Amino acid sequence: MNALVYHGPGQKAWEEKPKPVIKDATDAIIKIYKTTICGTDLHIMKGDVPEVTPGRILGHEGVGIIEEAGSAVSSFKKGDHVLISCITSCGKCDYCRKGMYSHCENGGWILGHLIDGTQAEYVRIPYADTSLYPIPAGADEEALVMLSDILPTGFECGVLNGRVQPGSTVAIIGSGPIGLAALLTAQFYSPAKIIMIDPDDNRLAVAKTFGATHTINNKTENAVDKINSFTNSKGVDTAIEAVGIPATFELCQQIIGAGGVIANIGVHGKSAELHLETLWSKNITITTRLVDTVTTPLLLKTVQSKKLEPNKLITHHFKLSDIINAYETFGHADKEKALKVILTNE
Ligand SMILES: [Zn+2]
Ligand SMILES: [Zn+2]
Repeated sequence: MNALVYHGPGQKAWEEKPKPVIKDATDAIIKIYKTTICGTDLHIMKGDVPEVTPGRILGHEGVGIIEEAGSAVSSFKKGDHVLISCITSCGKCDYCRKGMYSHCENGGWILGHLIDGTQAEYVRIPYADTSLYPIPAGADEEALVMLSDILPTGFECGVLNGRVQPGSTVAIIGSGPIGLAALLTAQFYSPAKIIMIDPDDNRLAVAKTFGATHTINNKTENAVDKINSFTNSKGVDTAIEAVGIPATFELCQQIIGAGGVIANIGVHGKSAELHLETLWSKNITITTRLVDTVTTPLLLKTVQSKKLEPNKLITHHFKLSDIINAYETFGHADKEKALKVILTNE
């Protein structure tokens, strides 16, 4: 088979690799139908994730068809259409029993990280029974690729941790795919105001069409002054950080109102300053989380009922064999006006 293989920082190739085989009875082999590229893959390509070793097949999102199920897999059989979760869960360890699959002692985020991933014609999925989800007949499978990672991430780490309430005011810093996923799922709770903050006017225009009530370009406008004008200087109830740099986390601290929640989603590589001198008396909460994908079944139902339309996030299509060009486009997302790219294994 062919796969996208990481060969160290800045180096990748679409090349021949052995087709994966069942190693444990709980494994399944999936023939990939559609997959995508994540911002995390770009971090890996830069060398920011040193646990990823040369020779690794990247990718942790996708949908496909069961090619072979191990003898202990009871929920799926050959030919079933499945959604692959970015988080592998054994379902049995202490963390899995608490619903904290991201910290599974036998899994967690391993796909395209510690084991070979989904940017390939075939992938081996460990603990298939608890790491795959059945795709309902007639579903838009391409849209469901957005449920492997970005929608549960925006929803769990941003909206649920951020305790978005009816009538509340929410600010989302970062209007990339994850921030937009938080914007889409925040609307389950009918907040009164959703303010998107980003330096890219195109992404802010997209956010408006996705339901943002206000937008702020923090390159050309003073975000704190704008938030004050939108909130009678009270600040926001929920500030969702969807970038992962110190400046945006510090902006959350400047715009959070009394009793508010700062929900971090961003992957931070540097320490950020905590302004306790202004926050100590404000009754605020700061949350962090790695996506557990516990809400995937719920999100599947909202897609089926058209309450959620994840296909809005898809801007570009490529053949899987054209993945090097897809990386080029996704890597220049600003210039290409790219959100999520879909790669189809034809
Ligand atoms: Zn991802
Ligand atoms: Zn586990």
